[in-house]
Amino acid sequence: MKSEHCTSTPKEFIPLCEPYITGNEWSYVKDCLDTSWVSTSGSYIEQFENKFNDYIGSKYSIATSSGTSALHTSLIVAGVQENEEVLVSTLSFIAPANAIRYIGAWPVFIDADPSYWQMDPDKVDHFIACHCEWKSNTLVNKTTNRRIAAILPVHILGYPCDLDPLLEISRRYNLPLIEDATESLGAKYKGKKLGCSSDIACFSFNGNKLITTGGGGMITTNNSHWAQKAKHITTQAKDEPVEYIHSEIGYNYRLSNVQAAIGLGQIEHIGEFIQRKILIYNRYQQHFQSHPTITLLPKRPDSDPVYWLNTILLDENITLDQRKAFVNTLNNAGIGVRPLWHPLHALPLYADYTSYHIEHSLNIYRRAISIPSSVGLSESDQLKCISSINRLIA
Ligand SMILES: *Cc1c(COP(=O)(O)O)cnc(C)c1O
Repeated sequence: MKSEHCTSTPKEFIPLCEPYITGNEWSYVKDCLDTSWVSTSGSYIEQFENKFNDYIGSKYSIATSSGTSALHTSLIVAGVQENEEVLVSTLSFIAPANAIRYIGAWPVFIDADPSYWQMDPDKVDHFIACHCEWKSNTLVNKTTNRRIAAILPVHILGYPCDLDPLLEISRRYNLPLIEDATESLGAKYKGKKLGCSSDIACFSFNGNKLITTGGGGMITTNNSHWAQKAKHITTQAKDEPVEYIHSEIGYNYRLSNVQAAIGLGQIEHIGEFIQRKILIYNRYQQHFQSHPTITLLPKRPDSDPVYWLNTILLDENITLDQRKAFVNTLNNAGIGVRPLWHPLHALPLYADYTSYHIEHSLNIYRRAISIPSSVGLSESDQLKCISSINRLIA
């Protein structure tokens, strides 16, 4: 994460995941500055949206100011309202849960499955079957009496969730499926890219993501009404642009032309970026496969991950304090590592909220460490990381 490290770190520090900027980004940005098209309209926004849309294979793509604003917008577009509930992954970065709260809706935290660490579809199914009921055509949580409004799985670390059962549940109960694909741009499930087959999906171009715009996001959908609505509310919901007539609350959530120019330069190389990520994963795999206590997050047989952030799982008997000490020692040795996010249901902020039968997420969090995975990571730097990790974790 360059933004957090760029000024204060020693030269030999190997960052966790930094941007890779070697293409047309400079010339496209210069073009914006030369022509004064620097704000929230301009040709790069449309070019970037079109290129992104072609890449994913979705019908519509709408650029946003961040992944978080893409999530907030998607929840509104999908019809989620105040005091309704949204089923969301607990083993995730906090943004999707917060976006649910922006609306005044309530997250219901769902566990990760122990093999692949993604939202467990069986638990979604059980929660609805055991704890919800139909009341005059509305699915409600029997305990809270609130409407269940959507399912929001997060595809973590560059790997896809088990999407088919989640889609089946969402169809069976008539719930929109909102995918947080911010970490898994380009990943495929059963041969199809994330973001082309569900109701609506969100992406992020933060500095540490697969491609970056400095900060930015994207919504993809196949629903033309939703696409229109997303564009409308991200541009202040202006009904009539000359007289400034508004009939609903909008947001200033659009991406700028300068950011889109960077994004266009980035997405032109996305195939190469993913190839490099795969190479990095394969090298880690090769060096850790004989290690007695380190395993890399495995891929589902029906998926093609993009290995955005390689993450190792340590021995099952390791304590939280031991894992924290490993993280500190490796960072002090110049190897940029971090733990997974603290599971959301157990955060001070969300501890009093509903969670369903969480058995695995805290264990995964206790044992997992994300390790350097930058697109530009050199072989020699990666071998340095591997030997430091091997030396420390015997
Ligand atoms: C990065 C990320 C986001 C938010 O993206 P921003 O562009 O930083 O707002 C949302 N969800 C997950 C899981 C993320 O990793």
